[in-house]
Amino acid sequence: MVVRSSATARRLFLSALLAPGLGCDDWRDGLDAWYDGENLTYYNSPSLVACGGTRAHVDGFVPFVTGELGLSPPAGIAYVWLDTDDFADSTCDPEIASGCAHGRRAQSTSPTHLHELVHAVTWAHGMNRLPFLTEGIAVAYEGPLGWPPVGEELSDPRPVMTVPGSEVPYGTAGAFVQFLLWRHGPAPLVDWAQQTAAGDDLARIAALFADAYGLDLDDEVEAFRSTWSCGDDPLPVRPYACAAPTIPWTTPETWTHTQSMDCSRDDVVGGFSPLYAWPSASAVTLDVDHPGPYTLVVESDGDFTVRLAPCFGCPWDGQQVVLRERGAESLELAPGRYYLQIQANSDEAPEVTVSLQ
Ligand SMILES: [Zn+2]
Repeated sequence: MVVRSSATARRLFLSALLAPGLGCDDWRDGLDAWYDGENLTYYNSPSLVACGGTRAHVDGFVPFVTGELGLSPPAGIAYVWLDTDDFADSTCDPEIASGCAHGRRAQSTSPTHLHELVHAVTWAHGMNRLPFLTEGIAVAYEGPLGWPPVGEELSDPRPVMTVPGSEVPYGTAGAFVQFLLWRHGPAPLVDWAQQTAAGDDLARIAALFADAYGLDLDDEVEAFRSTWSCGDDPLPVRPYACAAPTIPWTTPETWTHTQSMDCSRDDVVGGFSPLYAWPSASAVTLDVDHPGPYTLVVESDGDFTVRLAPCFGCPWDGQQVVLRERGAESLELAPGRYYLQIQANSDEAPEVTVSLQ
């Protein structure tokens, strides 16, 4: 252990107190760039540079995802962004994945790997017992929803509910968990995840499902695979971008937002290393009061991706719009809250103006 300064010495001493037994193998060694957030501590390898909003964005995800699941934000969560060398020395296996969670600690080669942070949060709530549900919940909240096209039959989730973590198909697990969340909300899911365990056979998993939901697992799987119905009044499964600040309408007929994607800004998330720039992102929300046809117009002096999607309803209705070039797109919008996410690259700083009229 090389002690670099009195501040570092104090931190390492406190770390040793907080994590007895780690001693000279403390995983924090060498991670001298760090940030104490309200909900977690963010560490990164010294070679990595986070955009201005990255750490607060990751910090704010903890109360977001716990709020969505009806849980309290746990103490002691850490997010660790590692360069390739440090990642190879971590408890993750670089051969298997670009991130992993170790108890309350999420580790990744990406600056904002929310999937691993979900694992850290649900671990703290005793929910990472059945790998199918552990992965399904992380996929459900890791970002914009990646659904198969409407009408495509989904795989039967039952045979993979008993497989080890390395064999869980993320798409099937994430889709089934989201389906249950839309129809029944988070409380029975949390209960089911806390009661099941690795090694349970399907009969026990189904019995615990019946205890948690008061429903037959086979019936829900049948509805999942055949009807594609979220129900008449689906409960929200919101992407994190839905918690972004709301920008009011400029006039009753026009909504406009201009965003500089300069990585140093505190409303831009992303990061870069000497060798690589990760995607950058910035999000806002807007409220549509009146249903009807709208025109989405995007202007920019650089490369970007703009995504407009609802924070309500059934995502199978396919209301998401993605634009990657300057121009206009006609769309029909239902009333409600939407999120607008602008993506670029962290080593570029295009200015993007989006208007809706
Ligand atoms: Zn995972």
